[in-house]
Amino acid sequence: MELHSGLPYWIVKNKLFNHFNPLKTNIQTKVAIIGSGITGSLVAHELCKQNIACVIIDKRSIGLGSSAASTSQLQYEIDEPLTNLIELVGEDHAVRAYKDCLNSIADIREVLKETKADGSYKQIPTFLLASNQRGVRLLEKEYEVRKKNDLPIQFLNKQQLAKTLGVDNEAALYNDSSAQIDCYQCATGILNHYLKNKKLEIYSHTLIENYRKQKNGYTLTTTEGYTVTCEYVVVAAGFEAGDFLPQKVMTLLSTYAIISQPVDPKLLWHKRALIWETKNPYLYMRTTDDNRIIVGGEDIPYSAPDIRDDKLRTKSKALERKFRKMFPEIPFVTEMSWCGTFSATADGLPFIGAWPRHPKMLFTLGYGGNGITFSMIGAQVISNIVRGIHDPRLEVYGFKRLKNKKDC
Ligand SMILES: Cc1cc2nc3c(=O)[nH]c(=O)nc-3n(C[C@H](O)[C@H](O)[C@H](O)COP(=O)(O)OP(=O)(O)OC[C@H]3O[C@@H](n4cnc5c(N)ncnc54)[C@H](O)[C@@H]3O)c2cc1C
Repeated sequence: MELHSGLPYWIVKNKLFNHFNPLKTNIQTKVAIIGSGITGSLVAHELCKQNIACVIIDKRSIGLGSSAASTSQLQYEIDEPLTNLIELVGEDHAVRAYKDCLNSIADIREVLKETKADGSYKQIPTFLLASNQRGVRLLEKEYEVRKKNDLPIQFLNKQQLAKTLGVDNEAALYNDSSAQIDCYQCATGILNHYLKNKKLEIYSHTLIENYRKQKNGYTLTTTEGYTVTCEYVVVAAGFEAGDFLPQKVMTLLSTYAIISQPVDPKLLWHKRALIWETKNPYLYMRTTDDNRIIVGGEDIPYSAPDIRDDKLRTKSKALERKFRKMFPEIPFVTEMSWCGTFSATADGLPFIGAWPRHPKMLFTLGYGGNGITFSMIGAQVISNIVRGIHDPRLEVYGFKRLKNKKDC
C-alpha cells in the first residue's frame, strides 16, 4: 500500500535517516517488532529500557510509513467527543481513554528527553471551535462532562473567542495541555539512540511475508527466505497491519495536508495553538518552528492510492481557501502538499494487545486522529505484557470489545 504521496514536509526538513540494512541471515531474539514508525520506535524504547532483547524490521526505509506524513499534533481530545465515547464504551473506559491520552503527551516528552531525540516537542494550547449551532450544543455538553472528570478545559463564548483567537465562531473549548512534535524526527531520533547504544538491531527493506506459530513463540519469514525466531511478535505495522489480522478492524480514509511558505511570526495566532473544529471531517491547523502553517483535513473514504492522489490538487486548494477564510490577514501561500492514508475504528479507540488465543502476537494499532498518543499507550502496555505485568488498559483497548471475532 502506498501510505502517502506528494511531498511531506518532514522528509524534506529532516533528510532521510540513513540506515540501509536488509536482513541477510537467520536471527533469534526475544521480541521482533514489525514497523519502524513512531509506534515501533516507542515499543523499542520501552523494551530497551528494560533490557529486553528486541529487533525492528521494516520493509521500507526507516520511519517512512505514515509517521513521515503525520501532522503530529498531540491532543488528549480523541476524535470521538467524550460525551459520545461514554455512550459507546461506558463512562469508565471513555474517561480512562481521555486521561491516558493526556498522560501520554507528558510521557512522550519524557521519552524524547531520555533518548535525547529532539523531536521538536512543544507544549501548546488547543482551540476546538464550534463549526455551527450544533457544535455549540456539543461543546456545552462536552465542557460539563470534561470538567466533571477533572480534564483541563475552558469554555470560550463568542466574545472571548474573538478576543483571544480573532475568529468569529460562536464558541470554543480551550485547553493548554496539548503539544506538537515532528513525528519522523521523533521516531528516527529514538531509534538512532538505541542503535548507537547497541541495544537494538534494525533491519530495513525487509518484508515479513509469513509467520508460523511455534510452541513458544513465532518464526517470521522474509521475502528473501530468512527467518526471525522470537518469543513475541509486536505488530506495529500501522495501516498495513491487516495482513496479520483475521478480520478488518478499521475503516481506511484518505487525508490531505498543505504547508505554507514562512509567514511573519507576528501574524500568527494566540500562542500558536492547535486549532480544530466540531465538524466531521474537521479542518485542523498548527504552525512549525520555522513559522510555517500546516493545514489538514478534507478526509474522504479510501478506495485506492491513485484516486486519493488525483484529488491532491483540488483538496489542497480547498484547504487553502478554508484557511484564508478563517484568517484573511495571514498571507498563506502553499509551499508543499501531501496526502496520506489514515483510519478510524468504530469507537475511535486503538487496538492494543493480543488476538484471543494468540497471546504472543501483540498488536499496537493506534488508529484515529490521536495515533501518536495511542502509540505511547500501546508501547507501555506491550512492555507490561512482555514483562508479565497485568495492565488494566487492556480492558479498554483490547480486541475483546470487537463483536463476532474470527479465529486465526
Ligand atoms: C496526513 C496525516 C496526518 C496525521 N496527523 C496526526 C496528528 O496530528 N496526530 C496524531 O496523533 N496522529 C496523526 N496521524 C496519524 C499518525 O501519523 C499515525 O497514527 C502514526 O504515524 C502511525 O505510526 P505507526 O508507526 O503505527 O505506522 P507507520 O509509520 O506507518 O509505520 C509502520 C511501518 O510498518 C512497516 N510494515 C508494514 N507491514 C510490514 C511488513 N509486513 N513487514 C515489514 N514492515 C512492515 C511499514 O513499512 C511502516 O514503515 C496522521 C496521519 C496522516 C497520514
